[in-house]
Amino acid sequence: PLPVVAIVGRPNVGKSTLVNRVLGRRAAVVQDVPGVTRDRISYEALWNGRRFTVTDTGGWDPKAEGLGASISRQAEFAMRTADVIVFVVDSQVGATDTDLAAARILRRSDRPVIVVANKVDDERSEANAAELWSLGLGEPQPVSALHGRGSGDLLDLVLDAL
Ligand code: GDP
Ligand code: MG
Repeated sequence: PLPVVAIVGRPNVGKSTLVNRVLGRRAAVVQDVPGVTRDRISYEALWNGRRFTVTDTGGWDPKAEGLGASISRQAEFAMRTADVIVFVVDSQVGATDTDLAAARILRRSDRPVIVVANKVDDERSEANAAELWSLGLGEPQPVSALHGRGSGDLLDLVLDAL
């Protein structure tokens, strides 16, 4: 079986956009409506000649109830079965209570966790990424999933962690 990279984070941070960036095509559904992805959806990806599975997940909120809770359980299952966890945060918004709750869980993970400071669309926004050191999960990787900025460096890092 291929190594598995799980993409997790609260709704609307750009997980599916990042998955499409990794795949180099539009496969994951991107929408402004939070919680579009309810299950885990896995795709086969290739980078630098290495094949791996990338799993897109729905919005993860550890404290969610109702439908949100079942979406979150799916995300948590994806994390438990992943070789590397990519935790996506919206650097334009900064760390929310939900991000902090998720980070608390991820700090206990026995899998490597890479924090993505997404939506760093230009150099000017790099300072927003540095603020996400506060999540306590190491160096935040500045990325613009939408424009591709930093995505190559991120993939190098992900494959190093596999
Ligand atoms: P998900 O719910 O985490 O899967 O988020 P989506 O991938 O569906 O994206 C949510 C919204 O954020 C969409 O409107 C995307 O176009 C937007 N978005 C995603 N990545 C970026 C980015 O790097 N920069 C900006 N400015 N917007 C982004
Ligand atoms: Mg999505």
